[in-house]
Amino acid sequence: AAAAAAPPRLILDLEALHHLDAGEAGPLTRYAATIQAQRGDYNGKVLSIRQDDMRTLAVIYDESPTTLTERFISWGVLNPEAKGDVEETTE
Ligand code: C2E
Ligand code: C2E
Ligand code: C2E
Repeated sequence: AAAAAAPPRLILDLEALHHLDAGEAGPLTRYAATIQAQRGDYNGKVLSIRQDDMRTLAVIYDESPTTLTERFISWGVLNPEAKGDVEETTE
């Protein structure tokens, strides 16, 4: 088990992502592919992403970060521990 003090990370399951319907998952798939390319990180089964990236994805999907986090978890592409990790921002 991980240390209790560590905050939950946002970890995408790339294998599960590629099995999703392209329509809804398309923007997330392209976003993850862009991050992989920027890092040169092509061999992973998972991809750790930034908190800021969930906020950006929330704008793309026109959802609140909390709703989108729950949706990605229900799709099986985001670790369940991520729930509650992304803070709501009012802008
Ligand atoms: P950058 O943001 O200027 O980061 C430069 C380098 O600092 C990164 O090179 C990485 O080695 C390190 N770095 C920055 N933030 C973190 C972090 O939170 N954790 C870790 N472990 N290292 C960090 P790298 O990985 O080759 O990425 C190159 C550029 O690609 C980054 O430049 C950034 O513009 C973009 N990028 C990479 N991964 C992400 C991501 O997850 N989200 C976003 N938004 N951009 C990313
Ligand atoms: P962790 O964060 O729990 O990650 C466990 C394993 O998941 C990693 O083992 C790696 O195989 C995979 N993984 C997680 N995120 C990514 C990702 O964005 N890309 C890829 N390709 N794989 C990922 P690994 O690499 O042996 O790392 C073991 C532990 O070392 C990590 O556990 C973490 O605690 C630490 N670590 C590795 N790289 C970094 C880093 O860039 N920043 C920080 N802070 N810790 C790191
Ligand atoms: P991590 O590497 O364990 O970093 C944990 C947190 O430390 C990051 O959360 C960020 O708040 C801070 N941090 C680490 N390195 C840097 C840095 O170079 N510059 C800044 N400004 N902050 C840094 P965050 O942003 O939510 O990222 C979560 C995880 O996503 C990171 O865990 C890492 O695994 C991955 N990640 C994010 N950005 C990059 C990146 O540019 N390159 C790589 N290789 N991994 C990244």
